[in-house]
Amino acid sequence: MFSKKVVLRFPKEIADKPLVSDICKKYDLTFNIMRANIFPRREGILTLEIIGSKEDFSKGIDYLKENGVSISFVEESIQRDEEKCYHCGFCVAVCPTEALTIEDRKTMRVELYKDRCIACGYCVKVCPVKAMSLPDEF
Ligand code: SF4
Ligand code: SF4
Repeated sequence: MFSKKVVLRFPKEIADKPLVSDICKKYDLTFNIMRANIFPRREGILTLEIIGSKEDFSKGIDYLKENGVSISFVEESIQRDEEKCYHCGFCVAVCPTEALTIEDRKTMRVELYKDRCIACGYCVKVCPVKAMSLPDEF
């Protein structure tokens, strides 16, 4: 089974449309909600893990785009500047999913597992040298 984490941005004109429910019914997809920021009569931002076959996932993403939803893929969006990072570990303490973690207590190197990231942005806020980044749309 294929799954991918995506950030969906709904402009206010379509924020009340059941588009996520549509793709589940049309393309046999399921989803886990990772984050939701929904404001009445304003845009909504949903971070979801969408699960299904690869083909159905692509069809579902196309359907959302055709209906005006902006889509970003979390795994491709979170970035660490390896030149700047000095493995202080501040981001490890705030990361809710262990996407940032220390596995080797000897080196204390901070590992980044992009596939675990939910684009919460906490690491971006706490990093003292601004090594972590997410695009503006997050
Ligand atoms: S807070 Fe910044 S410098 Fe420290 S380990 Fe995390 S990314 Fe590296
Ligand atoms: S944005 Fe940073 S703190 Fe949040 S899940 Fe991703 S790596 Fe962890």
